[in-house]
Amino acid sequence: MSQTYTLKIYRGTPDNQYWEEFELEQRPYLNITAALMDVQKNPVNKKGEKVTPPAWEQGCLEVVCGSCSMLVNGRPVQACVILVEKVLKATGSNVITLAPFTKFPLVKDLVVDRGNMFENLKKIHAWVEVDDALDRGFGPKVDPKIQEERYILSTCITCGCCTEACPQINPRSNFIGPAPISQVRLFNAHPTGKHSASDRLHALMGEGGITDCGNAQNCVQVCPKDIPLTESISLMGRKVAGQAIRDLLNPADSKE
Ligand code: SF4
Ligand code: SF4
Repeated sequence: MSQTYTLKIYRGTPDNQYWEEFELEQRPYLNITAALMDVQKNPVNKKGEKVTPPAWEQGCLEVVCGSCSMLVNGRPVQACVILVEKVLKATGSNVITLAPFTKFPLVKDLVVDRGNMFENLKKIHAWVEVDDALDRGFGPKVDPKIQEERYILSTCITCGCCTEACPQINPRSNFIGPAPISQVRLFNAHPTGKHSASDRLHALMGEGGITDCGNAQNCVQVCPKDIPLTESISLMGRKVAGQAIRDLLNPADSKE
């Protein structure tokens, strides 16, 4: 006989929110995204009412696009890699709750607006300037050890899990968050990107900057890419301090 479980989904828009439950058939290797697709195919809730299917985001289904971020039983994750059977086994319950991230504006149901993360990447100049006047040819040689260090930093998918888990990111704070700090480390280690290193370090100074990190270390525990966020924060903290000293010694060279 097939086993069933309940998906309890946070529904609604900023003006009206509620929980809605759906009873579904459990199948091996079913992930949360596939479970949502089951609801979409037959959007009848536990009360037997036909309802509008829940809204959620998905893209690559392989932890690369970062769009299926949501809270599964309260933990920030990528829905495409979380298996229903594992969650049920781990909790010993037959109910799985799905909710939208709380640190981003709610759009609808499980969809939030992660735009602020991309605005923060603009603030820290998360790109490398390319001069089209030159024949690009081969890029500069990079030490394999630095390549390895940079590779893991470059795997950030802007999913927002670290933002969601960080207690320092809340309505009373402008903290930029761990992901952009780690991206400063990535771009400042690039042979061309390092020419804008001081701009990026300045972007981490002041209110909402790196000193707002409370070192709770939640971020590193939820990153689906295992990016060493606390290591980046500690390294960039030292670089920002060094930049502040250089600014004091050479005020004419310091930038806003
Ligand atoms: S270590 Fe800093 S950035 Fe990471 S969760 Fe804690 S306060 Fe947030
Ligand atoms: S650092 Fe990790 S958790 Fe944070 S946005 Fe990037 S991939 Fe997601």
